[in-house]
Amino acid sequence: MLFSVGKECGECGRYYKSKMSVNSEIRCSHCGKESAEIPDIQKIFNACPFCQTKQFYRRKDFNQLLGCSFVLVGALLVPFTYGLSLPVLILIDWLIYRRVSDMAVCYSCGAEFIDISSIPDNIIGFDHHTAELYE
Ligand SMILES: [Zn+2]
Ligand SMILES: [Zn+2]
Repeated sequence: MLFSVGKECGECGRYYKSKMSVNSEIRCSHCGKESAEIPDIQKIFNACPFCQTKQFYRRKDFNQLLGCSFVLVGALLVPFTYGLSLPVLILIDWLIYRRVSDMAVCYSCGAEFIDISSIPDNIIGFDHHTAELYE
């Protein structure tokens, strides 16, 4: 099973992302200094492969969402379609939003685990109180 891991490098500060399978190594594609061994999916969520933190939150993969700014297009078309374009496009946007998958993000180092089909249920949305512990 393939998934993606993305992270801002702790060494050079640039974002890198790569397709992964389990039991393989990810390395910063810019400086090559930061790397981590990616274990089994379930073990990832026991401890972050980069920083050993045990807490993650889930959010939508917003990069996917950015590719579908239909509502904006619909708004621009309103004067020409007597307002009909907007509800139609909001519907399309909502359908796409539902299909955009969740990703899990490490509270401490911000590593992103993308396209993982089974994010554990105990990983919930972003929580400010938890995040404060890591600032
Ligand atoms: Zn780097
Ligand atoms: Zn981490």
